[in-house]
Amino acid sequence: MAGLMEGRRGLVMGVANDKSIAWAIADAAHAQGAELAFTYQGDALKKRVMPLAESVGSEIVLPCDVTDAASMDAVFAEIGARWGKLDFLVHAIAYADKSELKGRYIDTSPQNFHNSLAISCYSFTALAQRAEKLMDAGGSLLTLTYYGAEKVMPHYNVMGVAKAALEASVRYMAADLGPRGIRVNALSAGPIKTLAASGIGDFRYILKWNELNAPLRRNVTREDVGKSGLYLLSDLASGVTGECHHVDCGYHLVGMKAEDAPDI
Ligand code: NAD
Repeated sequence: MAGLMEGRRGLVMGVANDKSIAWAIADAAHAQGAELAFTYQGDALKKRVMPLAESVGSEIVLPCDVTDAASMDAVFAEIGARWGKLDFLVHAIAYADKSELKGRYIDTSPQNFHNSLAISCYSFTALAQRAEKLMDAGGSLLTLTYYGAEKVMPHYNVMGVAKAALEASVRYMAADLGPRGIRVNALSAGPIKTLAASGIGDFRYILKWNELNAPLRRNVTREDVGKSGLYLLSDLASGVTGECHHVDCGYHLVGMKAEDAPDI
């Protein structure tokens, strides 16, 4: 199978380095012929994102901080001027103050609650508003979520609340944009070691727990997530919208792993 994304142009937001989930999805889309534009958050990440973007022949690589409406406007103005349209958007952006990704959710500060929800949830809506204007021929919007939106996961705290809001916004936007042929979906990825994940307390233990308890008895790979992203971005998922699709080796379905019960 080749050429699934031939003639498609997409914007990928959230690459920090070659470990980023956004990069795995970009790589999978590029391998199927997609033309890509990238954004990076600030100069510190520019030097990591530039060589990756160049390696897939990208000619549009722009700064963007989603807390700054003008920087989002500038990105979409540039894409409009250069491409005149957009076929897909990958939103792989999240943030919470690291000091509150441990301990109790109830201790979340108002400032961190506000920032986390604005960056991790509202930014997808803000970007979708801008993308819609370039999607007259339809399109696909994709974001990234985590099981901590559905169930309490240790240390995920305010990020779980932000992801729950993000998943709800996927459904609302899918309803709003469906009549225009724009699909909106999320991938709920199992834990993967990335820059963002390194901020979550006891992350190594969470990885081990998933590996031992997921039905497939392993953790997801970047490639697993990249391929599922490709599915949702491409016509393979032409009838799919408003979904939060788990790519977690089945972890989400386990209530209790079957084991020989000890004598009690
Ligand atoms: P990552 O650190 O590689 O990517 C996070 C990205 O968010 C970075 O590129 C960072 O620059 C960007 N970002 C943060 N604040 C921003 C802002 N104000 N403006 C613009 N960009 C900003 O980590 P990742 O794990 O690849 O995260 C990508 C997405 O996947 C996130 O939404 C994350 O919650 C989600 N996710 C991750 C995992 C995991 O275990 N790694 C699991 C499920 C979902």
